[in-house]
Amino acid sequence: KRREELTLQQYVDGIRTNNRAILARAITLVESNAKRHFSLAQDVLTSIMPYTGKSMRIGITGVPGAGKSTFIEALGMMLAEKGHRVAVLAIDPSSTLSQGSILGDKTRMEQLSRHVNAFVRPSPAGGTLGGVARKTRETLLLCEAAGYDIIIVETVGVGQSEITVRSMVDCFLLLMLTGAGDELQGMKKGIMELVDIMFINKADGENLVAAEKAKIEFQRILHMLPGTTEGWITEVRTVSALTGNGIEECWESLIKFQEHMKATNQFEERRKQQAANWFHSLLEEQILKDFYNHTLILKDLQSVKQKVISGETSATKAALSLLEKFRDS
Ligand code: GDP
Repeated sequence: KRREELTLQQYVDGIRTNNRAILARAITLVESNAKRHFSLAQDVLTSIMPYTGKSMRIGITGVPGAGKSTFIEALGMMLAEKGHRVAVLAIDPSSTLSQGSILGDKTRMEQLSRHVNAFVRPSPAGGTLGGVARKTRETLLLCEAAGYDIIIVETVGVGQSEITVRSMVDCFLLLMLTGAGDELQGMKKGIMELVDIMFINKADGENLVAAEKAKIEFQRILHMLPGTTEGWITEVRTVSALTGNGIEECWESLIKFQEHMKATNQFEERRKQQAANWFHSLLEEQILKDFYNHTLILKDLQSVKQKVISGETSATKAALSLLEKFRDS
């Protein structure tokens, strides 16, 4: 039996008064791929827009096992205890594949999810990375409107997911491990350039010395790399998510970074740029969809493609002829 649909006003009031059940339903609404949900979801988003933008948006990446959920739980609990309201979202592109999700469907961060000041939501499943990204962005806005002032978006280093998360947060963190030999091995090319703060996790017990050594090594490397943020050299810190050692300092780094961004006018600029980029990528995605789903294109695409493959016509000419049909229709 289908639940009774809420009205636009019920959604907006529920979100604004931090009614978690309604917030969760609003997220389900924006995550829905059903056509009948689309316009109500967009109306909800439009209505809550004035109440968005006031959070600190933090992205976190790291290989499976780096300690992301342990770290987010430790940082989140500390902030929730301080009176902050913390929302944790995720982008797990593997949840769109048959292998199942890397971040795990099981309830993670159990302690944090039970805290009154926290809200933990797993990655939306299904669809393209673009689709998952849209849902997470819109969920982020809903959480901001509900008064969450810290939003953490977690991802794993799969495909483009790190670039996707980077494009929706103010500050991007990399959680690293040491002790596995050459730390740079297995690290994706280009990831260092995306990162504002690097945390070397599991700096405890026998691993402490190695972690401190790695920190110095990374500091040396990062001094030579161009960062994403003007006037900011990627900060490196050691932390133990398990013991909580260094978690307070992690928060200090985040504050310091945000202050730097604001003092140099990069904070608002980055957000504006992100909004503009998001708009363009939505447009491009929709244009592609419209094109490939158009009846004329569906009818001719295969035969024209065959002509290109067999060398009967040039790719340029073939593409332009299809585009012309699409434009004239
Ligand atoms: P994720 O896959 O990145 O989310 O990693 P998890 O948070 O699930 O952690 C993977 C494993 O590392 C778990 O067994 C954790 O208990 C352990 N772990 C996480 N943080 C630390 C830490 O700071 N020190 C130690 N010793 N173990 C940790």
